[in-house]
Amino acid sequence: MSGAWTVRAVLEWTAGHLNEAGSDTGRLDAELLLAHALGVERLQLYLDPDRPLDQTERDAYRELVRARAKGAPVAHLLGEREFWSLPLRVTADTLIPRPDTEVVVERALELLPVEGGTRALDLGTGTGCIPAALASERPELRVDAVEAGSEAAAVAADNMERLGLAERVTVQTGSWFEPVAGETYHLIVANPPYVPEADPHLTAGDVAAEPREALAAGPEGLDAYRVLVPGAPAHLVPGGWLVVEIGWDQGEAVAALFEANGFTEVAVHRDYGGRDRVVEG
Ligand code: GLN
Repeated sequence: MSGAWTVRAVLEWTAGHLNEAGSDTGRLDAELLLAHALGVERLQLYLDPDRPLDQTERDAYRELVRARAKGAPVAHLLGEREFWSLPLRVTADTLIPRPDTEVVVERALELLPVEGGTRALDLGTGTGCIPAALASERPELRVDAVEAGSEAAAVAADNMERLGLAERVTVQTGSWFEPVAGETYHLIVANPPYVPEADPHLTAGDVAAEPREALAAGPEGLDAYRVLVPGAPAHLVPGGWLVVEIGWDQGEAVAALFEANGFTEVAVHRDYGGRDRVVEG
């Protein structure tokens, strides 16, 4: 970059540079990385566009932009991603929380009984984004959050500490229902891996830097549902609900699996992009 290193000039240059490097969101990436390098809120960049960058700030920012141009997700560089307006720590061991998953949270909140003593289970919790959102909305709710990866489980536990939710959200390490044998819940929720393992999506863009075990689930992407849908009834109180995130073309197959396992009132819901995203029953 030539000319003055002001916030405005730096953002303009980097947005173009990152778009050329293959980001779909060059401008947003640039803003998030610059705010991080300067230790300010993103809004501050707009309030003071002529602010010059000193040498230390330039160096820190240049490193971030270089890593981003090489394909590191912004959430990994910041170590954080916002979900349901909650700041969550993210590492390369966890799936980066996506806005699509907020629809899962909305359905869960709709279906969860409001009275005290309510319990929920989140399977494959990752960063813990779903239990964090649920527990922050429902001050009496207790959630067990299960995660197979021990590094990811540590991130989830850390997030609950940081958000002041550790008293009510318990993170347990293990495979699906294994750590919660004999327990029952009013609601079971999951954003399991559901991408078909040969899908080119898995090796493209930011997704390539995310943990494959959080994304890929057998030839049709249905392997995780084949474990957790049949396993759920034994862990639900009468009238309890199972709510899962799905891929855009999996609504029919997953709804059929729910029905084959005795679920009633099975419904498919769409995300804000108009694609099937949630099955409940
Ligand atoms: N929606 C994610 C993606 O397309 C997949 C998340 C998942 O498998 N749970 O990248």
